[in-house]
Amino acid sequence: MRAQVWFLTGSQGLYGDETLAQVAQQSQEIAKELGAALPVELAWKPVLTSSEGIHRVMLAANADPDCLGVIAWMHTFSPARMWIHGLDALAKPLLHLHTQANQALPWSTIDMDFMNLNQAAHGDREFGYIQARLGVVRKVVAGHVANTDVQRKIAAWSRAAKGWAEIRSLKLARFGDTMRDVAVTEGDRTEAQWRWGVTVNGYAVTDLAEAVHASLDTEVDRLVAEYEERYDVDAPLRRGGERHESLRYGARIELGLRAMLEHTGAKAFTSNFEDLGALRQLPGLAVQRLMADGYGFAGEGDWKTAALLRTLKVAAEGLPGGTSFMEDYTYHLGPGTPKILGAHMLEVCPTIAAATPRIEIHPLGIGGREDPVRMVFDTAPGAGFVVGMSDMGDRFRLVLNEIDVVPADEPLPNLPVARAVWEPRPDLATSAEAWITAGGPHHTVLSTALTTDEVADLAEFARTELVVIDADTQVRRFQQELRWNQAYFRLAGGL
Ligand code: MN
Repeated sequence: MRAQVWFLTGSQGLYGDETLAQVAQQSQEIAKELGAALPVELAWKPVLTSSEGIHRVMLAANADPDCLGVIAWMHTFSPARMWIHGLDALAKPLLHLHTQANQALPWSTIDMDFMNLNQAAHGDREFGYIQARLGVVRKVVAGHVANTDVQRKIAAWSRAAKGWAEIRSLKLARFGDTMRDVAVTEGDRTEAQWRWGVTVNGYAVTDLAEAVHASLDTEVDRLVAEYEERYDVDAPLRRGGERHESLRYGARIELGLRAMLEHTGAKAFTSNFEDLGALRQLPGLAVQRLMADGYGFAGEGDWKTAALLRTLKVAAEGLPGGTSFMEDYTYHLGPGTPKILGAHMLEVCPTIAAATPRIEIHPLGIGGREDPVRMVFDTAPGAGFVVGMSDMGDRFRLVLNEIDVVPADEPLPNLPVARAVWEPRPDLATSAEAWITAGGPHHTVLSTALTTDEVADLAEFARTELVVIDADTQVRRFQQELRWNQAYFRLAGGL
């Protein structure tokens, strides 16, 4: 896939060929400057001057698998009833760029020719009206394309559109059901497929175990050598060590899981420690390796978080920082700034690691199997967020908290799992009160690569509620927002 965003320019025939040629020329320059600042290819399309032409280009955008979305700009005045059929047909993300070819007004030379050519100030308002009138979901960005804020907003939207294209066709494989009696990891798979596109299907753990046990010794040898080269492998697990067989079994799980995922076409998956069939270890290292390769994952059958992780990993491609499955585990309530210690039984993605992960083996009380191998590391400090999805019965709700990943107050020599320590904004008490009031899940995606902007744009594409807990959050206001949203989403869904 080429991952393109199309650049559309609106005008009308009234201006005559000479002006339209100038419009086309300037719009190509704007597209070129903007394209250089985006993480996707920007494809310029000829200037649109008729209802038929606009309708045709929107249908083509829908049909082209390379097209992630459409950016539209009214360089001149484009009477907006021409846009009704096209906007009505468009099924891809839309960004309305409100810009102008020139930054400065040529005060001393400006004449009516200039005024005639540079009309976005009113042309884009006409376009905004028809989108509002039709209820078109879109993002509006205003400013010159040389402005880094404008570039950042459009880049975030482009990344969100990449994630959106991914989840529209995502296949997710569940090995085992949801953990018994757990509520928040449940959800309506049919609703998810309609809203988000992801197809969630169950596969037999017995088949997975068969694939694991069918893996070839030569492949296991190759993978173990790779582990020893890439990671800091604990001495007893190394070749010749007394627990080397456990590392080899971990490699078998990776080979079997990869084979199953390739066979099913799934780019996201879940496991459940209550349902491991003939597997001798809970998959730990294997899951971490697959997440590092871009697969979505969550434990205990939590397909919503696994799908979100895959989506956000695709959106984040090429950015510094990492994106992982995470769980709020335990707190530091003081002294000093209160913090959250996040981890999971084993499965934290090494893209967020501060240094080379260490492969270790330790007992695991839960699951009742052999000791599992896993990567252990601390998370690199930096700004980021945690985001989770809950099924509220009639719709999905995304809850996001902006955070700062920080170093642990002290080393954690006895903690045998990968972990992240963070300070939630605005503070732990407000964050936890707001999160719990919203019914946000304990499983999340943690990202230090993306920002709130990409998630907000994704939520818009999916017409899904997003509530954000950030530096400005106050619990009483937040509670009101939840109530307003409740009313809005019921009305918007029912009309
Ligand atoms: Mn869990």
